[in-house]
Amino acid sequence: MSNNMLNSFLNNNIADLKDRGLYNEIDTVQGANGPVIKVKGKEHINLSSNNYLGLATDERLKKLAKEAIDSHGVGAGAVRTINGTLDLHINLEETIAKFKGTEAAISYQSGFNCNMAAISAVMDKNDAILSDALNHASIIDGCRLSKAKIIPFEHSDMNNLRQKAKEAVDSGRYNKIMIITDGVFSMDGDIAKLPEIVEIAEELDLITYVDDAHGSGVTGKGAGTVKQFGLQDQVDFQMGTLSKAIGVVGGYIAGKQNLIDWLKARSRPFLFSTAVSPADAIASTRAIELLMESTELNEKLWENGNHLKDGLKKLGFNIGNSETPITPCIIGDEKNAQEFSKRLFKAGVYAKAIVFPTVPRGTGRVRNMPTAAHTKEMLDEAIAIYEKVGKEMGFI
Ligand SMILES: *Cc1c(COP(=O)(O)O)cnc(C)c1O
Repeated sequence: MSNNMLNSFLNNNIADLKDRGLYNEIDTVQGANGPVIKVKGKEHINLSSNNYLGLATDERLKKLAKEAIDSHGVGAGAVRTINGTLDLHINLEETIAKFKGTEAAISYQSGFNCNMAAISAVMDKNDAILSDALNHASIIDGCRLSKAKIIPFEHSDMNNLRQKAKEAVDSGRYNKIMIITDGVFSMDGDIAKLPEIVEIAEELDLITYVDDAHGSGVTGKGAGTVKQFGLQDQVDFQMGTLSKAIGVVGGYIAGKQNLIDWLKARSRPFLFSTAVSPADAIASTRAIELLMESTELNEKLWENGNHLKDGLKKLGFNIGNSETPITPCIIGDEKNAQEFSKRLFKAGVYAKAIVFPTVPRGTGRVRNMPTAAHTKEMLDEAIAIYEKVGKEMGFI
């Protein structure tokens, strides 16, 4: 028999979400997540994946992953600190450190899990964390887990950050203080003001943590936002994911050797959860090497991003303040954003509506993620569909 209180909690809350247009119906992709995807038996131009460089389906990586299964098996076999540290994990971490220009790196099972792991390994209840108001959910949860005092600052508002940082320092209440920010903000595509953040941190002796999940492979010719600004020696934690531009799965911190040594000793998901599989580790390693060897995919990504942005802007859509290929199409009302996405889908474009709580209330949008794997023809077709549906709904 199921519990009555649980049932009424679940049923009431799900009904409430549906009522307010905040309930996300999850689609199944029938096959690979490439530039065109099959959903509900029909092909759609895919503008919703984070597979920025098309590496999730790259033939070179698929071949290596298959070979790694033959040589190393399908699983790592144990947590890293017992005997689940395979040579492939060490190669991956050495490659990440080279890519990020740091002394060392540590890899985790996902980017989310990495933020949960790394923040709480260093910060505790006697510390404070200055956190950008639009930071990703995994940063927020990682900060909460640490029990440090969380002090939000207005999104990318450096005066507000400086003032709150000074107040925190002057209060004398905290042992350590960290500034934490996304490198690229995933819902708007704007870039954090890292030079100013580092300046404030140096002036006040604060720790810096940059989550570059959407920057790696994208900004700084692929090397990420921290490297774009040449700040790899100043930023303490360069966090990234292996699931977006890298195309596989996993997360990492790149930084100084003593930081990585500490995280290997104290970050709980590293100690108590098995590492990514051999196939994942080798595919990620090779993907990063490809990025270091050539900027071709990165250039294609930006070219495609600019093409889509120009097209949507010319049609009169509000595409916000994106500085990266991320192209939001801001509608406002949650239900309108969801209806827009549904009609785009019917017309052959897969572009997901993103609503509260992922973005602030009243800023519902359809977010477009062009990739290096799209052709000009696919993007032009998508723009034509945006025009047709946008006019139909009276948005343009
Ligand atoms: C996607 C994302 C993560 C989580 O990465 P996963 O590897 O998918 O777990 C963390 N931070 C930011 C900013 C992200 O966009």
